[in-house]
Amino acid sequence: MSNKKYVYFFGGKKAEGEASMKNLLGGKGANLAEMCNLGLPVPAGLTVTTECCVDYYDNNCELPSYLMDDVWASMKNVEAAMGMKYGDSENPLLMSCRSGARSSMPGMMDTVLNVGLCTATIPGLIKKTGGNERFVWDSYRRLIMMYADVVMDKAEGLDLNIRKKLDDMLDGYKKAKGVKEDTQLTAEDLKDLAAQFKAKVKEEIGLDFPDDAKAQLVGGIKAVFKSWNGKKAVSYRRIEGIPDNWGTAVNVQAMVFGNMGETSATGVAFTRNPATGDNIFYGEWLVNAQGEDVVAGIRTPNPLNDDTKNDQNKHLHSMQESMPDTYKELDAIRTILDKHYKDMLDIEFTIQEKKLYMLQCRVGKRTGTAAVNMAMDMLEEGLIDEKTAVMRVEPAQLDELLHPICDPKEEAKVSVLVKGLPAGPGAAVGALVFTAEDAVAAVRKDAKAQVILIREETNPEDVEGMRAAVGILTARGGMTSHAALVARGWGKCCIVGAGKLHVDVVNKTAKIEGTNIVLKEGDVVTLNGTKGHVYQTGLKLMDASENPRFKEFMTIVDKFRTMGVRTNAETAADAKIARDFGAEGIGLFRTEHMFYGKGSEEPLFLLRKMILSGTKEERVAALNELMPYVKKDMKSTMLAMDTLPVTFRLLDPPLHEFVPQSPEKQAELAKALGISVEAIAKRGESLHESNPMMGHRGVRLGITYPEVSEMQFRALFEATLELVKEGHTPKPELMVPVTCEVGELDVTKVVNDRVYAEVCKKFGVEKLPYYMYGTMIEIPRACLLGNKMAQTAEFFSFGTNDLTQMSFGFSRDDIGGFMNDYLDQKILAADPFQTIDQEGVGQLITMAVQKGRATRPNLKVGICGEQGGDPASVEFCYKQGLTYVSCSPFRVPIARLAAAQSAIKFGK
Ligand code: PEP
Ligand code: MG
Repeated sequence: MSNKKYVYFFGGKKAEGEASMKNLLGGKGANLAEMCNLGLPVPAGLTVTTECCVDYYDNNCELPSYLMDDVWASMKNVEAAMGMKYGDSENPLLMSCRSGARSSMPGMMDTVLNVGLCTATIPGLIKKTGGNERFVWDSYRRLIMMYADVVMDKAEGLDLNIRKKLDDMLDGYKKAKGVKEDTQLTAEDLKDLAAQFKAKVKEEIGLDFPDDAKAQLVGGIKAVFKSWNGKKAVSYRRIEGIPDNWGTAVNVQAMVFGNMGETSATGVAFTRNPATGDNIFYGEWLVNAQGEDVVAGIRTPNPLNDDTKNDQNKHLHSMQESMPDTYKELDAIRTILDKHYKDMLDIEFTIQEKKLYMLQCRVGKRTGTAAVNMAMDMLEEGLIDEKTAVMRVEPAQLDELLHPICDPKEEAKVSVLVKGLPAGPGAAVGALVFTAEDAVAAVRKDAKAQVILIREETNPEDVEGMRAAVGILTARGGMTSHAALVARGWGKCCIVGAGKLHVDVVNKTAKIEGTNIVLKEGDVVTLNGTKGHVYQTGLKLMDASENPRFKEFMTIVDKFRTMGVRTNAETAADAKIARDFGAEGIGLFRTEHMFYGKGSEEPLFLLRKMILSGTKEERVAALNELMPYVKKDMKSTMLAMDTLPVTFRLLDPPLHEFVPQSPEKQAELAKALGISVEAIAKRGESLHESNPMMGHRGVRLGITYPEVSEMQFRALFEATLELVKEGHTPKPELMVPVTCEVGELDVTKVVNDRVYAEVCKKFGVEKLPYYMYGTMIEIPRACLLGNKMAQTAEFFSFGTNDLTQMSFGFSRDDIGGFMNDYLDQKILAADPFQTIDQEGVGQLITMAVQKGRATRPNLKVGICGEQGGDPASVEFCYKQGLTYVSCSPFRVPIARLAAAQSAIKFGK
């Protein structure tokens, strides 16, 4: 068997790989190859494949035996392209080792720079740089710091925190020399420091720092592979749903230096604005710096050009001003890339003594607003077609467009506490926490907790806390810093580089420079991530204003969509919101919801009266009083949805929830029913159930008390015929919940048919213009017997909340106690109450659809559980041939887009 090809060369305007090979070469490697093929200036290098990483793990963390032979062979080509030799004493070539997975994981894995510097190569490099000893010793001490940390400490799982120890030594050294900045250290100082670093490495780790270029390269490759399974990479993958078995590639690339003096620089840019989508070149740069200085957010960078200037950075020199010729060259590359990729890219470049090099390009992360705006712009520019435009926006990103912003009237009344860079749009109000752990803990304790994570700067260790927080605020860093990239990717409100903040993480306080204000843990603040403003109060938030681009985009989306999208709503107001968002009907009207919240006092009282009735007569009397309320709500909802179907579900209340607990309410009811308070309490107790979720609920209630169903049928039919008389087109559908046997549907239908005939007679009509009788499918037995259920049911609607509960045997109200453990220990990949468990519950759904349609080929099938608005679940529903999905009003656009994308991906 021939050896696998693990190593792909790129350089000198040609490459063995190309952009389409992302799975094998990782995003970075594939795009480096593509840029070479486009003839752009890319330092030569080679990519070790993701497959090699997978094999490395399968082989007990041993590199394949012939890998390094292939690497050294490819290095010959790199040397030829760069005109230098690796490990050579005269003309030494230095390399970087960087990770690059299929899907970008910013800052989550490790990088080693300046690989190849050692006793043998240092003098040659000094000579080559025209005697720039300071530069060479600075590069060397950076190598020691990075290599000791990544290769010798972390990759070996030692956790000695060597990086921090070396950083402390550097600080101590500067203090002893009486200097503040690294740049004030001389070549001699740095040489001395390098020797001290090496001694410290030996003392802490017990090994010599490798003084051999070849050994360093092997170590670098292994360390990048190891960092695939580092803690932060694993957490990021879990949040982003990236499979553990993809592995990372390693890009071994010739070093170019942005820190060779004032004619050298480094920068990060986006080919279009990633926050707004505007068609402008947008970026940041730093003179005399290495790439990590920009992305790590250590120094607040300068604006790339005039278009990138804002209030915070307008006084700083742009590249357009300082290096106009190189800027023009870069801008021309931007145009080439924009036309070639037909998508917004995020690029990294370095200028070494006026010569420009491209170090990376990849499809850039963007806000939801930018995604929509860019898709529409590129469509208009003729770069992409409508199908591509629809695929360009992730359904979940739409959520951001519908996210709250600060109420401008309120915002105008308060003064800004501190300003930073607007890194993630929208607004957030929350209590301050100072560590990622505190953010996670707050949300674990109370899933609804709203916290804002405040940090000096964020680093990849903070990801879980950033996820848990509603907003992120940092004192340092630029728009391309790690915090900004991650927040933008998640559509999270974020402000970075608020320079006047001085964060003291130990005491959990933050001072505002130039004031006496000290923020403490728990203080409530508001972030306006669109402007970069922080307020020392909780401002009122409101829905983002209408974006006409969004509407146009959704019109195109609907051209491709074939599956219906409805909403779950039980008031005319919610129905209207959903209709504005494009809902094509109501998939679930939970009748019992009219007894919660505003305006529910009277109907609730009557419901309680009904529940606590001692005889059928009492119950019927209470139901007669209740009916006008039910009818009114049904009527107003059908009116709001006029011409569109509305699925009303028979009462499905856990009865005990409605039993009055307070003495006053009990007394009031006792009076109304003419019995004693004790008797009321007794009747209440008799309703107690051990497992109410599996108790006297849903259809079972109407089996025992048919008069309860009867009232609802009558209310519905009368509401419908009144609307018809008034000239409207109501489309009611009646849904029976919690069924497990067709007999339940049949018994209930006898009552339905009788009341139907009575009401038609009353209104002098023969039939309703539109009516359907169907069932929820939310018990596994109903799925198994889908063929029988469909004999009576004209439609099915999957109640995946209960279906998940009943399939897993997990109480949907009690999962808070253990679901995180299941996820942390990777027993489950995702919470099945949020996204359909396709493997298990999915089988039941598939079976129910097939069996149901075997009996009734035109059976309408929908879903109304919470998962109906989750993009992955929508895709699954599409593949199962569902007629529609139904979700909460604000998720309707998400479901529409997910359905359209499914049709594009899987449609015939
Ligand atoms: C369901 O069970 O999925 C459902 C939609 O009904 P409910 O959440 O009201 O039980
Ligand atoms: Mg249910």
